Amino acid sequence: MSTLASPNWDARAFPISLVILHYTGMQNGEIARARLCDPAPIAGRYRGPWQSPHIAADAPLSPVSAHYLVLEDGRVEGLVPEDKRAWHAGAGNWQGESALNDRSIGVEIANGGHDFGLPPFSDAQILAVIDLVGQIFARHGLGPAALLGHSDVAPLRKADPGEHFPWHKLAQAGLALWPRGGAEELAGKDPISPGDRGAQVEGLQTQLARFGYGLEDPSGVYGMSTQACITAFQRRFRPACVDGRADGQTRALLADLLAR
Ligand SMILES: [Zn+2]
Repeated sequence: MSTLASPNWDARAFPISLVILHYTGMQNGEIARARLCDPAPIAGRYRGPWQSPHIAADAPLSPVSAHYLVLEDGRVEGLVPEDKRAWHAGAGNWQGESALNDRSIGVEIANGGHDFGLPPFSDAQILAVIDLVGQIFARHGLGPAALLGHSDVAPLRKADPGEHFPWHKLAQAGLALWPRGGAEELAGKDPISPGDRGAQVEGLQTQLARFGYGLEDPSGVYGMSTQACITAFQRRFRPACVDGRADGQTRALLADLLAR
């Protein structure tokens, strides 16, 4: 593993308890590395679908970083030392905790993501991520519950690493949570849906919050936050249908995970 220092870090306020996976969502790993190591990024240097074409070329962007960048061919670059705080998670919440950059190690995986048609991750990349996360877990005494996607901690803002990330392979390696059964027979059945209200919604929200999601909707109201949390859950555990509706299969998978 090579080490290419990013200047974008500061001191941690909390010990490491999470590992957060991202896709870079940019044209390629080289451009992503430049952005992750740029202390004074400006809009004109990083044009892409994520930005208005009308933004001034010299408009400042927020500096960002991650501890690791996993390139398309599986090479892993260390950008920020693990004991420092990198700037990858932004505003987020998990298990009632915020300040997630302070508590996490950030891993950026070079992949165009939703803006570039959700390209597949390469086998070499996934093997590299498994190896890297295994090493991080061993160094910090972490287990499968510590591995999250960016969309889990910021479901209203983020969709990465996206529904093409093979979480089941991380689970097979003992590094990620995974339900025991697929509950396929319940797919599409009896959905609780955006706009619904009442005790059933309240029960669903209680389970989502127990799993870790930071819900912002009023209790019993299936609003945008509940929809976003269900969407994030489906990206990870039911990627065949990511529709933001809590159908029988989605609810069964959530209940299965909570029963551990
Ligand atoms: Zn991200």
